[in-house]
Amino acid sequence: MSGHGSTRRPAKFPLQLGQLGTKRAAPAEPLRPQRPLQEAERDRARATKPAGLGLDSEGVRRRMVERLRADGVRNEQVLSAMAAVPRHLFVDTALANQAYEDTSLPIGLSQTISKPSVVARMIELMLAGRTAPLARVLEIGTGCGYQAAVLARVARHVVSVERLRPLHDKARAHLALLPPLGLPTSGIRLVYGDGMLGHAPNAPYEGIIAAAGGAALPATWLEQLAPGGRLVAPMVEANGGQVLVVVDRDAQGQLHRRVHEAVHFVPLKSGVN
Ligand code: SAH
Repeated sequence: MSGHGSTRRPAKFPLQLGQLGTKRAAPAEPLRPQRPLQEAERDRARATKPAGLGLDSEGVRRRMVERLRADGVRNEQVLSAMAAVPRHLFVDTALANQAYEDTSLPIGLSQTISKPSVVARMIELMLAGRTAPLARVLEIGTGCGYQAAVLARVARHVVSVERLRPLHDKARAHLALLPPLGLPTSGIRLVYGDGMLGHAPNAPYEGIIAAAGGAALPATWLEQLAPGGRLVAPMVEANGGQVLVVVDRDAQGQLHRRVHEAVHFVPLKSGVN
């Protein structure tokens, strides 16, 4: 729709082409950097929300969720969490129109927001076989904060660690947009630090999800995994490829590891920046 500006008159040129270079003509109309107040008032009275994401993001998101379902995501808790969180608020405005495509997008500092299908798959793996809601989940690699927001819909407490300060700050700003939309974030704790160390103060965790892949699973993650808990993380294999790894700690404390499909995550790095 045309929206604002439709009442603006076409600009008149002070010079007619034939006059160019001959003499200076008096301007046909004074320049009007500001429109007359009554025009602006008229526009405002007519104003409707701009078409697009603001208006129908719920519909676009529902279609994303239907695609996830068609692609094999079965867990209704995960699907409704993905339906609830407005992914377009976690990416730059210029990329918002791609927010509901199944693609990762740049979030700055060479990092990306994970693909919706990967977020759904990892959380589904983490929840598989559980009936009670998760009490405490640790996420390594907050990035823009999207997955933390989705996790908060399936777990009571989410601790999310990010090693890049600007992204940690960005995630905080993104999450602040949610409560006014009826999505509480009080269960989310953002931590600036090296996620390779996990986050001992809130351990143990029933679920641990890593959004960055290294050559080995840091021992601290396994130490901070509660009995009955599950870790889902990408891991770099000897051939350089990455696979999704699931590690369960059983009630006796024993670890059980399974390797799933190939994935592609940003590298897990140590230290902070
Ligand atoms: N969870 C994000 C994905 C972010 S990409 C989402 O919702 O889409 C992965 C993030 O992991 C990057 O921001 C990167 O900086 C971070 N990262 C890599 N190594 C890390 C580490 N050791 N500790 C904490 N964050 C780490």
